[in-house]
Amino acid sequence: MKSIQQRPLVLLDVDGVLNDLKVLRGTPSEDHDYVPSHGYRLAVPKYMPGLIQWLCRVAEVHWCTTWRQRANDELAAHLGISALPVIDDGTNDRHVDWKARAAHDVAAQALRDGRRVLWIEDFYDDIPSDEMPEGVEFLDTAGYPEVNQVLDPFTLPAWLLALSDGQAA
Ligand SMILES: [Mg+2]
Repeated sequence: MKSIQQRPLVLLDVDGVLNDLKVLRGTPSEDHDYVPSHGYRLAVPKYMPGLIQWLCRVAEVHWCTTWRQRANDELAAHLGISALPVIDDGTNDRHVDWKARAAHDVAAQALRDGRRVLWIEDFYDDIPSDEMPEGVEFLDTAGYPEVNQVLDPFTLPAWLLALSDGQAA
């Protein structure tokens, strides 16, 4: 297993990525678990804990979500992962425009260290590439025409899927 200094950096959103917004707005699904947290209910696909556990083994994952530190509570427990570092600008802004500013320096440092950086979010085709260092890659879970509003493992980049810790890939 690569040391954390060599592994890619992944910035991971919650709503529209782990929390399937399309299902929350529609009929209940047997393919999801419903996770109560901080007064909300998240619809998490049953494949997600295994996927995120694997991701945390092959990459350094930081939360990049308006859930901020709260993502390390019931959601992390449901996913079966340890607490993750949190991208946070120190405000409680519930919009998403603060994220690029707050994530810029950690992404820039990782790129300077020769690591790949992937930001996974439901961007709705509004990719903040101008606000992030050149070289950051983006995975849009709500990009046209596949507005999934949840992370589909088959959309992960091939270079990431190729990483294995020997237990899963
Ligand atoms: Mg989101």
